[in-house]
Amino acid sequence: MNDFDSDMAAGLLKKEGHEIVQDDDSADVILFNTCSVRQHAEDRVLGQLAELKGEKKKRPDLVIGVMGCMVENYKTKFFADYPHVDILIGTRSIPELPKAIETVRTERRQVLELAKTGFGYELLEMPRLEGKFHAYLPIMTGCDKVCSFCIVPYVRGREISRPLREVADEVRRLAEIGVKHVTLLGQNVNSYGKTVASGESVSADFATLLRAVSKVPGIEKIGFTTSHPEDASEELFQAIRDEDKISRRFHLPLQSGSDFILERMKRDHTLAEYRKKIDRMRELIPDIAVTTDIIVGFPGETDADYEATKKALADIQFDGAFIFKYSPRPHTAAARWEDSMPMDEKNRRNNELLNLQKEITKRKNQTWLGRTVKVMVEDMSKKSREEVLARTWQEKKVVFKGSGTLIGSSLRVRLEQVFDETYRAEVVSIPPPPRADHSGRPAKTGASSSSERAGTKEFQPE
Ligand code: SAH
Repeated sequence: MNDFDSDMAAGLLKKEGHEIVQDDDSADVILFNTCSVRQHAEDRVLGQLAELKGEKKKRPDLVIGVMGCMVENYKTKFFADYPHVDILIGTRSIPELPKAIETVRTERRQVLELAKTGFGYELLEMPRLEGKFHAYLPIMTGCDKVCSFCIVPYVRGREISRPLREVADEVRRLAEIGVKHVTLLGQNVNSYGKTVASGESVSADFATLLRAVSKVPGIEKIGFTTSHPEDASEELFQAIRDEDKISRRFHLPLQSGSDFILERMKRDHTLAEYRKKIDRMRELIPDIAVTTDIIVGFPGETDADYEATKKALADIQFDGAFIFKYSPRPHTAAARWEDSMPMDEKNRRNNELLNLQKEITKRKNQTWLGRTVKVMVEDMSKKSREEVLARTWQEKKVVFKGSGTLIGSSLRVRLEQVFDETYRAEVVSIPPPPRADHSGRPAKTGASSSSERAGTKEFQPE
């Protein structure tokens, strides 16, 4: 979500004639796109902002802006604590950014833009994506859940879905400019369609949306994030089973393996209900890789609650898990509860679960060795100029011999070895020579997998 917001800001500024530079010294405008989910992310931004104070004294014309969740969290308090900040842009006000920069420059005053309604995306002003094979695409914004640890509803506002027709048009437009892989974004994409943008009818759920996007010619891979166990439905699992283009990695945050803690977290599901969903998903889609998020040290988490989480990880055998230490967030219900667990203990639980998951991930990854799978090439390998980095439909990383002309194309490889979490593979299918793509223009990468029916159907369940 934040990557998309940063891309959109960069795209809007480029359109106004600004150039994007990476170092502070040559920049006339420095922008921070911020996250408030955990305190750590906020502390890093605050540290960097404090460091810029001296720079602003030396260069009074330097424009410093902060975008995103921290703006919604602190609002004008930012200007009080960091008077050298010129611009504050909330999560739904990114389209106001170019105008805000102009205002600071011409009127020499601070600008605050907060909008709590509307979608906040200048849809036709999407960043220029020509030449890129992957695009993020927000299908909804905000969140109507009230998880007691989570700041998202307070900084991203209420949930609103974009109309299906609009999303489908946007995907077609992306395909026309060469995008092959889209990642559909939302705080809870599984509840897509429940709350509609004003004046428009969505009249579709997430499964229907996925099926519609799968029909768009030229699009080869469709990912989505993030899901919520309560809204992850049978229809959604069936859509994934039926549509080969949909990524086979399902990220479904569990948060805790203790029903007592899940209830305090206001997650609306028990461990047994969660397991039932995973079991059903694995039954319908045997090649699915499931990943999760876990929070340790939530207020009131006893040893027994923690042991229940450990057991859940061991039982469910996720392909991967993010393990977070609980951090109290302003506005949330849990922030009012006693957070008495010493940091040492949170660290111990965090490390123990990380190690446990590492072993599970390693074992799971080994079960894929020897299989032939479909991958999409994303980049050159960081370690070798003769190798490319690709991802399987389970979003596992793979490197193999190949040149940059393969980037954005799909091909089939045999997984030979796995180190850490990256496979080394041999190419099985040579991509076909350049030919006209769906839009009638020559294919840019010289490869297209649309003629291949590779992959998911031939995977064997474990
Ligand atoms: N709705 C989005 C954003 C949630 S933030 C999503 O589901 O991806 C991502 C993860 O951060 C959550 O799943 C949770 O595990 C973790 N998280 C959220 N609030 C937290 C907090 N206060 N302390 C620690 N981890 C938190």
